[in-house]
Amino acid sequence: MSDNQPNLPNAKKVFIKTYGCQMNVYDSDRMTDALAPHGYTPTSEMGEADLVLLNTCHIREKAAEKVYSELGRIRDFRNEREPGAKKMLIGVAGCVAQAEGEEIMARAPAVDLVFGPQSYHRLPELLTKAQTGRVIDTDFPEEDKFAHLPAPKKEVTISRGLTAFLTVQEGCDKFCSFCVVPYTRGAEVSRPVAQVLAEARGLADAGVREITLLGQNVNAYHGLDGNGVSVSLGALCYMLAEIEGIERIRYTTSHPRDMDDELIAAHRDLPELMPYLHLPVQSGSDTILKAMNRRHTAAEYYEIIDRIRAARPDMALSGDFIVGFPGETDADFAATVEMVQKIGYASAFSFKYSTRPGTPGAQMDNQIEEHVKAERLEILQAEITRQSQAFNAGCVGVTMPVLIEKPGRNSGQVAGRSPYLQAVHISADKSLIGQILPVEIIGQAKNSLEGRIVTANGLAV
Ligand code: SAM
Ligand code: SF4
Repeated sequence: MSDNQPNLPNAKKVFIKTYGCQMNVYDSDRMTDALAPHGYTPTSEMGEADLVLLNTCHIREKAAEKVYSELGRIRDFRNEREPGAKKMLIGVAGCVAQAEGEEIMARAPAVDLVFGPQSYHRLPELLTKAQTGRVIDTDFPEEDKFAHLPAPKKEVTISRGLTAFLTVQEGCDKFCSFCVVPYTRGAEVSRPVAQVLAEARGLADAGVREITLLGQNVNAYHGLDGNGVSVSLGALCYMLAEIEGIERIRYTTSHPRDMDDELIAAHRDLPELMPYLHLPVQSGSDTILKAMNRRHTAAEYYEIIDRIRAARPDMALSGDFIVGFPGETDADFAATVEMVQKIGYASAFSFKYSTRPGTPGAQMDNQIEEHVKAERLEILQAEITRQSQAFNAGCVGVTMPVLIEKPGRNSGQVAGRSPYLQAVHISADKSLIGQILPVEIIGQAKNSLEGRIVTANGLAV
């Protein structure tokens, strides 16, 4: 947004609350960009907003319920406003909007507009319509929303910092039997290579040093180049690494089936491609993997990890696990715990299975009792915590490049990220923000590391 916009007579404020994954964070930023030419500036104070948007997540049941309770809170807030205060529009975006559009309209009469992830570029038009009546837009349009969304503005990007998300792929055709993504985000689509490179160059020009490529199934990326030839994620990484200013590349979330040779080679060859991989496996049991429609076995997953570690021995691994999928026996669960122990994760997320209406998992008649899910989750999380602490402990004494990102919590401190995505706190001046510096790790806390900068003569400061 331009500097003078807040002074425009029709300047308006938008408050966006984002739930769920990084892709929603990216989408919220794109909505802000789409609204900027129409006089909207972002605010972090709901009280001064003309427009409140909830960008929602539908992955687990609780996520949707949180949205309904937040909508109740916003409605009360709007009702309690001074008489004559400016009108506040309330909108629901994201995957809950896509999946439950009509239900939201029925359950939450205060909502003025509901729109799915494929409609963000039409937001200004939808807002105009919402002035005169409630609007719902959850179609999957033919046009490419990315081609219609304005490019991120430099000033906006700078305010977002040294790291940025860049969506390269959306949707999913894999239809895992527990997951709503193919229904809420639609079929798998990759952005053309030129569009991705142009956005990355814009981010680099605006001072971004690290980009995280996003996709529900990011390593299934197959965008077309100028000759109409399909380009893999690995090949895209080689191109992005050429862009001046982009010093770090990450990507998330990947599917084991799409971990191809070109991507593994990119990890071997490109110092810009960070040695951190989020590769969800969900379960260590072949029976459950099959019931989940994951289309690979546990042995195949172990083999993929071996190939990745051969190419990049220091690769930090992360994953997602679901416990209590229908039919999961004690033996199936034990295979998951064994997998976690054998692989050794730097970090991992684990969830209790939650039934998602419309997915095959919801129809299965061998659902697991809640208390069993809870017990299994506790066991798995304890193992994951043990492993991530062991991984962090192994970093103590090691010197590694850290991107200094922001001032630390205490004065005289800065905070950055290691190549392995760990937060690192360092006693140093904030003038160093923006640099990638060698840092010796000297300690570990629960979720972060402590480090000190190593100078050119090898001494730590
Ligand atoms: N595309 C990624 C993949 O293939 O693994 C995952 C995307 S999903 C947005 C993120 C994670 O949410 C999944 O890896 C899974 O562990 C979890 N998840 C998805 N649906 C779930 C459900 N119904 N119950 C519990 N966890 C779920
Ligand atoms: Fe969902 Fe990922 Fe499976 Fe696609 S691959 S259906 S996004 S869990």
